[in-house]
Amino acid sequence: MVIDRKRLIRPTIDPHLLCPCGSTKRAAACCLGAGGSVRKFVKSVRPHPPTTGNSQNGCYLGHTNDCAGGISREHYISEDVLEELSEPAVAIDGVFWLPPGERQIVGINSLTANILCVRHNSALSPLDAEAGHFLRTVKRIHASLDTKSVSRKRLISIVSGEALEQWILKVACGLFYSKIASHNGLRIAIDHAIEDAVIAEGLFSKRWFSNCGLYMRVAIGQRVTGINAISMAPLIALTPEKRYLGIRVSIIGLEFAVIFDPRHDAATLAAEGWRLRPTDVSFRSKPRTHWLILTWPAGVPSRVIELRRLP
Ligand SMILES: [Zn+2]
Ligand SMILES: [Zn+2]
Repeated sequence: MVIDRKRLIRPTIDPHLLCPCGSTKRAAACCLGAGGSVRKFVKSVRPHPPTTGNSQNGCYLGHTNDCAGGISREHYISEDVLEELSEPAVAIDGVFWLPPGERQIVGINSLTANILCVRHNSALSPLDAEAGHFLRTVKRIHASLDTKSVSRKRLISIVSGEALEQWILKVACGLFYSKIASHNGLRIAIDHAIEDAVIAEGLFSKRWFSNCGLYMRVAIGQRVTGINAISMAPLIALTPEKRYLGIRVSIIGLEFAVIFDPRHDAATLAAEGWRLRPTDVSFRSKPRTHWLILTWPAGVPSRVIELRRLP
């Protein structure tokens, strides 16, 4: 088999055109840096200083002593995201490497929970905005691949990989602290440990242990299904010490995992085809290839994930 290597090279971004991140600035004045590097800036989700010194009972970030406003009751997968899904139902599996079949569909109204204070909930909202942008972008790409139009126009889009990573971490917390996440019918929040400090570091400092963060994979030979559904499965340690390690999320046909606890089995993840922090996703159909660029801090090596549309 001949592999066309050029196919896997990201197209150049024109510095003089509108930035493909969805902003209204030219690329050179926005995400495009010197030497062609690309980084989308998303504002910090740490609440504005000074810290309040209060810990709200029931807020899962209460240990940071920076709560205010009482408990908020909001969808922890925000409505900005849910409204992008035309079938807003959520499927939840037990543990992702178990065979499917233990899947449960829950309505979106069961995704509200009293798990954050008002101050933390609003501080985290830029993550939902970026997740909404990500979903709209991927839907536009899917629509373009579907179209019978003869246009070969290539779409190039930029999404902050860091914000997507943080958003999935937030979803993982929502599932856990609302006690929805379960394994063999038992709620994992009852007897599994989650590392508070790791969650706060990931959300507020974007500091992750090595081999932790956003993973993505292509399920080989698998048709992209459930474009409008979101499916989530907690990942737990299969050891006597029960730990909540991460989450797998399938959303609009893409498979992600966010691993926040370093005690996971990195070798198994690699064997299952998971790749840490992809920089590019190319969507290829016969006449067209569209590019989704995920941006990361400097130093993340280029990793292209190629999704081929099956006939
Ligand atoms: Zn930009
Ligand atoms: Zn709080």
